[in-house]
Amino acid sequence: MGSSSDDEGEEYLFKIVIIGDSAVGKSNLLSRYARNEFNMHSKATIGVEFQTQSLEIDGKEVKAQIWDTAGQERFRAVTSAYYRGAFGALVVYDISRRSTFESIPRWLDELKTHSDTTVAKMLVGNKCDLENIRDVSVEEGKTLAESEGLFFMETSALDSTNVIKAFEIVIREIYNNVSRKVL
Ligand code: GDP
Repeated sequence: MGSSSDDEGEEYLFKIVIIGDSAVGKSNLLSRYARNEFNMHSKATIGVEFQTQSLEIDGKEVKAQIWDTAGQERFRAVTSAYYRGAFGALVVYDISRRSTFESIPRWLDELKTHSDTTVAKMLVGNKCDLENIRDVSVEEGKTLAESEGLFFMETSALDSTNVIKAFEIVIREIYNNVSRKVL
């Protein structure tokens, strides 16, 4: 290997975007992951654009800069700048609202149109705490993910189920994709 093996502080920084219909829980997934916070009331602000989280992989600091649409999708106006440079994406629907699942192909198309590199993608069925009003089965999520070549996970930003896992799988996949290219 070319680099000196005792180099310390080797760092990676990757951009990840969260997409999906309005109110599926994108902001709460991010705030749960980055700050361990949850808000029952929809955010009132068009505020923070991204949060940065670090993860250690192979002794290296891997930082993910995770972007939230901050409500842009309400106006069907997620800009190409939002997608630019993204190496990973969480594509989110709400398991209690079928229409948000039916929108997934449209979000995947949009992601494909705007991305300029291989993107590690996770299909996320959020709000799995709402089992009593489930509107999309686990199998449907799995089947769609398999047919589109995506990772799949059901999550709950409310009770924290699988939130860290979902983000970390994407971050590790990006790291693997990039380090494969470098070697
Ligand atoms: P966004 O528009 O996709 O960013 O969605 P938000 O994060 O603003 O969430 C929309 C609404 O769904 C808010 O009222 C949240 O409290 C609620 N919500 C988000 N995640 C969950 C979850 O995992 N379970 C439940 N029950 N509600 C959630």
